[in-house]
Amino acid sequence: MMDWDKLLEDCVDFAQRLIQTPSMPFEEAAIADLIAGEMHRLQFDEVWLDARGNVNGRIFGQDRSLPSLVLNSHLDHVDPGDPALWSSPPYAAEIVDGRIVGRGAADIKGPLAVQVYSMAALLRLGERPLRDVVFSGVVEEEIGGGGAKFWVETLDYDVALVVLSEPSANNLALGHRGIVQMWLTFDGRSVHASIPKKEHNPNFALADFLAKLAAAQHDLSTHPHLGPTTVTPTIIEVDTKSPNVTPAWTRVLLDFRTASESTDSLQAFVEKLAGDWPHTISNAWTNEPFPPSDELVYGFYTPPENEVVPRVQAALTKGMGCDLALTHYQFATDGRHFVPFGIPVVGLSPAEEVQAHIADESISISAMGNSLRGYVQLLREF
Ligand SMILES: [Zn+2]
Repeated sequence: MMDWDKLLEDCVDFAQRLIQTPSMPFEEAAIADLIAGEMHRLQFDEVWLDARGNVNGRIFGQDRSLPSLVLNSHLDHVDPGDPALWSSPPYAAEIVDGRIVGRGAADIKGPLAVQVYSMAALLRLGERPLRDVVFSGVVEEEIGGGGAKFWVETLDYDVALVVLSEPSANNLALGHRGIVQMWLTFDGRSVHASIPKKEHNPNFALADFLAKLAAAQHDLSTHPHLGPTTVTPTIIEVDTKSPNVTPAWTRVLLDFRTASESTDSLQAFVEKLAGDWPHTISNAWTNEPFPPSDELVYGFYTPPENEVVPRVQAALTKGMGCDLALTHYQFATDGRHFVPFGIPVVGLSPAEEVQAHIADESISISAMGNSLRGYVQLLREF
């Protein structure tokens, strides 16, 4: 018989130790060691680090010829910001009102602990999952996903499904929109600010553009499951640091999230609003123009019709003892890096999306308990 209380207690203790081990991007070595040590102690069949610093642990299945089930979490987190904004220190992992509080509690150390302990649960019972299960802890998710890209590019075994532990409130997440980040640059002419010529100052063109952009948001299309396309102006820059010179150029970074537009259609949308003022558009990731493309941009999307979805849903429903909703993420995840390799991806996590990246970030311990039951059943049945 499974002692669920003891399992959850050990899982929470592990989550607290993970939070107490800060792991900003490029500084994940200590947490990778902590996780490797835990998986050894829990008697995983194989534990290894790869050349990029990702940590992996495998438990063998009953049929080792089947493609593996992979449980994926990232190891890094965002900066806690000003500790004064926290009601308990961000790396203390204190338990307050049934929740663990700390940077990374929800995104992603609480859910990571659930994935590792769901695997440990079967070993404790002397059970084996149907197929091999691999825990994959990857570096640098918060800064573009270098760890996940390396992991998938160097895979030397077949994968049936990746389950992400990104916050889904114990619902089954089937995807998210993709990101397009674009610089829109308005060109002008530098002149002394004491003799301004409005027609040379690109700041006026930018102001005009931003006013129109706010009104035009609703012209962007909507994906039936992954939601509306959004655009947010984030960084604004000019070429000069001098307070008494008009800029030679002004640029704004436009952060698009979409599952129903292409880079062509997004550029056409921007062109229409930018008007006649001389301007250029470039890809903010490459600083080059976008190559022509009418392919829809999306992050990852495993449609409900995909054969894995009802199987996963049935196992999780049985494990957690309640119906589980299909949902999608607002933010981007490492799941997008697995799409080019044809690997189905879903997300299951006890954490809530609103908890990610905030001060006093926290995760519910009882939700972790439910998630553990769901994951354990998934490992048994999938
Ligand atoms: Zn995350």
